Amino acid sequence: MTQMNKNAPVMVTGASGYLGSWIIHRLLSDGYTVHATVRDPNKAASVAHLQKMAEQFSGTLHLFKADLLDDGSFDAAMQGCEVVMHTASPFLMTGYTDAEAALVRPALEGTRNVLAAVERTHSVKRVVLTSSVAAIYGDSKDIEQTPNGIFDESMWNNSSSVSHQPYQYSKAVAEREAWQWVERQQRWDLVTINPALIMGPALTKNSQSASIEILQEFGNGTMRMGAPKLWTGLVDVRDVALAHVRAAFTPEAKGRYILCDRTLNLLEMGKALRERLGNTYPFPRTPVPTFLFWLVAPLYGYTRAFVSCNMGYAVAFDHTRSQQDLQIEYRDVRDSLAEHFKQLIDDGVLPNRL
Ligand code: NAP
Repeated sequence: MTQMNKNAPVMVTGASGYLGSWIIHRLLSDGYTVHATVRDPNKAASVAHLQKMAEQFSGTLHLFKADLLDDGSFDAAMQGCEVVMHTASPFLMTGYTDAEAALVRPALEGTRNVLAAVERTHSVKRVVLTSSVAAIYGDSKDIEQTPNGIFDESMWNNSSSVSHQPYQYSKAVAEREAWQWVERQQRWDLVTINPALIMGPALTKNSQSASIEILQEFGNGTMRMGAPKLWTGLVDVRDVALAHVRAAFTPEAKGRYILCDRTLNLLEMGKALRERLGNTYPFPRTPVPTFLFWLVAPLYGYTRAFVSCNMGYAVAFDHTRSQQDLQIEYRDVRDSLAEHFKQLIDDGVLPNRL
């Protein structure tokens, strides 16, 4: 059991991101001192919302510059910290050509560089790593390998590679690496948070997170003709942020924690949005036949291997550990979807048809 001093500063990497910003919000509103790392502390678009939070809440914010690919750049921020939350890692589904450079290298080298800094910083007692359900499974078809038709924390993604599901691969190799590092020593322990697809309003407009890209597709007509039969676990961003803080300060917390409210397919997501926001947006109503989607998949940026291994396979997740150990009471993520969608309208990302 690791007892943490709540007055020591807490370090958070990737503080300006979609999830990172909600973690900072939680820590500052709970009165913690936060050492937050961003790639560019002088970029107002990345940090202005964090500085505003620091004025509003009782906690204290210190910003530091650090890059995942720059060994040694995390040392200054880590000084005096007992808890390190490592959230920084690219979450991209499109917009890159070299998956190794865009996803795998920053995830893996970044984890190594952060943990090397932990090794050099003797105050650190616990690392909370933002992993993903992507480190648990790669393709929906992997559900067939589970004994009870449900993914749990004992399972690992063995189906992804740099050329097939590279984001999933990046998360799996980074998390595996962290578990290898923790076994080599006794001073610090490791807790991983493994969220499903995160939804809910953003505190920053500066994120490249695929979460935001996916939701936009429900409003911009991409699924007007129907949606492929794809299932995903979903969870509210505020529940994931809270889980990080509970994982850090609950002495008994250990191992991996799946964070998932419920599993929905794209049509069910469309239905949830329609029920809450009406009929004026092109939310999908009909399934696209698997064979048809398989034929046209490359035009939509999907490989045929992806279609074969994911379409038509319903997934399910066991979130019991997060409820028992971290006391997470899940928000209904269907409400989070609608709240997030409304925010995209308010921000002018989607046209206002409400
Ligand atoms: P995001 O908004 O794009 O945040 C990614 C963060 O990573 C940004 O703060 C970015 O920092 C940082 N980053 C990227 N490359 C970096 C580099 N080379 N050096 C330093 N920082 C770098 O995405 P997100 O959705 O919040 O994702 C945050 C974490 O949650 C990731 O580990 C992701 O894998 C995990 N996750 C996300 C989801 C989801 O559905 N969103 C689900 C499961 C797990 P700067 O802003 O300073 O550039």
